[in-house]
Amino acid sequence: MANFIPLSIPNFCGNEKKYVDDALEGAWVSTSGAKVGDMEKAVADYVHMPRAVAANSGTSALHLSAMAAGIRRGDEVLVPALTFIAAVNPVTRYIGAEPVFIGCDDSLCMDPAAAEDFCANHCTLRADGLYNNKTGARVAAIMVVHVFGNMADMPAFRRIAAKYHLVLMEDATEALGTYYTEGELAGKFAGTMGDTGAYSFNGNKIITTGAGGMMVSNHADWAERAKHLSTQAKIDEVQFTHDMVGYNYRMTNVQACLGLAQMELLEGFIAHKKERYEQYKAALDGVKGFKILPFREGIRPNYWFYSLILPDGMSRDGVIHRLSEQKIQTRPVWALINEQCDYGRNEAYALEKARYYRDHIVNLPCSTNLTAEDCTRVIEAVLAL
Ligand SMILES: *Cc1c(COP(=O)(O)O)cnc(C)c1O
Repeated sequence: MANFIPLSIPNFCGNEKKYVDDALEGAWVSTSGAKVGDMEKAVADYVHMPRAVAANSGTSALHLSAMAAGIRRGDEVLVPALTFIAAVNPVTRYIGAEPVFIGCDDSLCMDPAAAEDFCANHCTLRADGLYNNKTGARVAAIMVVHVFGNMADMPAFRRIAAKYHLVLMEDATEALGTYYTEGELAGKFAGTMGDTGAYSFNGNKIITTGAGGMMVSNHADWAERAKHLSTQAKIDEVQFTHDMVGYNYRMTNVQACLGLAQMELLEGFIAHKKERYEQYKAALDGVKGFKILPFREGIRPNYWFYSLILPDGMSRDGVIHRLSEQKIQTRPVWALINEQCDYGRNEAYALEKARYYRDHIVNLPCSTNLTAEDCTRVIEAVLAL
């Protein structure tokens, strides 16, 4: 009987047990303990940033980003329509701001042309910022998401942010390890090219701490503000006094132990994922009307997810069902966020490609321990559809 092939599961093949045992041994299980600082340093060094701020999830790292950036109640933030909803909620509604939804380009990331069109043709640039002509609100920021380990068009977004005086926030929760190899940003990692960046170590991400996240910023004082907000905004360890309304967004020492072991494995995971990506691509791209979504030119992606684009007329949900009957787990991309919660009352622009990809993509198994044989089984099942 064939084994079950999951979409994306954790892989603890390194020093995870050893490091966690050490923590348990010393009873350093909570939010004190040296490993949290070590994990912050490991991630900061890896993405070439002076400092990283640990958080208990990617969602909280995104919330810290928006608060550190000074986004205020009533402000508007340009966000992708096609992404995971945790890229939107924490940087808008958590703080009383409102989203303006923008569609995607062929990388599945936000389309910079559509973002620019909104700023140029639906807003007015005044001395104190950009204002939405329709709502009168201040447009404060852009939140770009590096979808599935691909890279959003960062040179374009940096120009737009500078031209329209917007804060540029990056959701790199899916793209730890992705960096530019060419062009004006060569050597720069996803998450480090805007004002703020956020990573996630949730169980389905390329490395995991069970749950966890990390925030980085190109403004040293924003990173410090984020750290302060994440630790209850405490200013006095003895009397417990606080100068702001803070949060308990701390990572635990046990999570950090897992993370340190996973960081040692990250480059190996990416090399493994690249091999499987190339196996899928060689067998399926351009065959029987299927396509494998390419990663942007001029980058080293982390190959987190493999997106199969179905030919027109093939039912996405039918494909997912037929593969699941063969014990192969796949997943569509997300439903559009502007169609969920009460986000329908917010503005949304240029959604044609987002709708197309929503309807045509099935994500294939991509775990870091997916074997060549399992990959072959998935390929054969797809070709037999
Ligand atoms: C996973 C993810 C998040 C949230 O990360 P958590 O650690 O699960 O809170 C945010 N944005 C995107 C695009 C994600 O994929």
